[in-house]
Amino acid sequence: MKDFIYTALPARVVFGEGRLATIREEVEAIGSTRALVLCTPPQRAQAERVAQLLGSRLAGIHDGAEMHVPIEGARKARELAAELKADCAVAIGGGSTIGLGKAIALEAPIPIIAIPTTYAGSEMTPIYGITEGGLKRTGRDVRVLPRSVIYDPDLTMTLPLSMSLVSGMNAIAHAAEGLYARDGNPVMSLMAEEGIRALARGMPALVKAPEDKEARAQCLYGAWLCGSVLGNVGMALHHKLCHTLGGSFNLPHAETHTVVLPHALAYNSPAAPEAMARIAAAIGVSEAPVGLHQLAVKLGVPTALRDLGMKESDLDRACEIALANPYWNPRPIEAAPLRDLLQRAWEGSEPKP
Ligand code: NAD
Repeated sequence: MKDFIYTALPARVVFGEGRLATIREEVEAIGSTRALVLCTPPQRAQAERVAQLLGSRLAGIHDGAEMHVPIEGARKARELAAELKADCAVAIGGGSTIGLGKAIALEAPIPIIAIPTTYAGSEMTPIYGITEGGLKRTGRDVRVLPRSVIYDPDLTMTLPLSMSLVSGMNAIAHAAEGLYARDGNPVMSLMAEEGIRALARGMPALVKAPEDKEARAQCLYGAWLCGSVLGNVGMALHHKLCHTLGGSFNLPHAETHTVVLPHALAYNSPAAPEAMARIAAAIGVSEAPVGLHQLAVKLGVPTALRDLGMKESDLDRACEIALANPYWNPRPIEAAPLRDLLQRAWEGSEPKP
């Protein structure tokens, strides 16, 4: 067994159907009295339900959350929080809304309570991202880690099936890379394997019945575990590539993760056999990268970058950008195999090391 250091991040998780009803108790438990509720415009109705439950603990609703947290939006939300004298932010939504909460918490010392409605996992991480001048700056700061998280599967019922599935694949990506992380540890590996298992079981059930409550709960449970892995250990090639493709070519976040994952795992498979065996066992297949590709095909999610709007002529530049800043990966990053990986991901072919 390899040596490890394990530092647990503080986390309070309230999980279960109907648990949204406890939001006022959660706000009071952290000593807050005026909560600013954050959401995107399409999730306004869910935010209003939260506002109603908060009663006298409500400071206001801000439905200005946007993809990639533009700095202008972050400033506006911070100003509003100050103006309303909010002493906590309640973020109901996906990674974009929770990201806006983090952008507030980074500057104003107010805690966040997160109510995730996708499987992206941001609620379990001290990672923030803010976009300024077309560039997304990311960082880690424990002040942005939500103090409390309510996982209520009922809130994911409205997440369209296609989004649910790519979001679930996005979650699996965190766990898969966590299994070969340089700073990995046995506790995170247990969570990673169980998280993949829950999602690999829950997603096919969602395809059969998108409103299957048990399947929704399984997926959200998996998302919690996978998000915890993302928050605790470092990521590698896969996340770097998705960051490059999303940031430089404006590709959609969860879909890009979905397409790239089997190929990034195939690249790393010769250098991370134990991680591959654990991923394969969790999915119930004999080989992790091909098994994940087959799972994607079975779920009917995108498997090719070309279907996400990427141009073949941009692959060389994507490869150059991904090579530009060296970072740790279990297998050294080399130009030719990386270019092959991108080509296969663009075409949607079967993954190969
Ligand atoms: P998102 O938050 O951008 O949501 C996409 C759309 O789906 C939004 O319009 C949202 O309102 C809607 N939506 C969300 N839940 C819904 C529901 N239950 N019913 C109906 N509509 C719903 O998508 P995401 O994939 O959750 O988040 C992606 C963003 O989060 C990216 O910017 C990514 O970089 C970031 N992220 C950050 C971290 C982190 O640790 N900081 C982790 C994962 C993702």
